[in-house]
Amino acid sequence: MAKYSSKINKIRTFALSLIFIGFIVMYLGLFFKTHPIVMTLFMGLGLLFIIASTGVYFWIGMLSTKSIQVVCPNCSKPTKILGRVDICMHCEEPLTLDKKLEGEEFNEKYNRKSLQD
Ligand SMILES: [Zn+2]
Repeated sequence: MAKYSSKINKIRTFALSLIFIGFIVMYLGLFFKTHPIVMTLFMGLGLLFIIASTGVYFWIGMLSTKSIQVVCPNCSKPTKILGRVDICMHCEEPLTLDKKLEGEEFNEKYNRKSLQD
């Protein structure tokens, strides 16, 4: 679908794939029912992946509080900017908060449209 995605979306995809890897590893462990130690190792490893993804989700939560919510000028949907430059979550419109990167008009226009939660 989207070739580019916003930073938060990328991290979210990463966290989701960690959960899948965790479940796959745990599932593989079921093939070693006759070897309880091997099975336990697989289960432990799978659990580690799932714990890691929980950590990543927590990190997303932290990042989300730091990100700035704006209304995308292109698709008029609310999106979040992380860092100086990011891409709209909905339409891939590049967004920036840095005056040096874009004209002042650009910067003001987007900053004034900040939403209140
Ligand atoms: Zn957009």
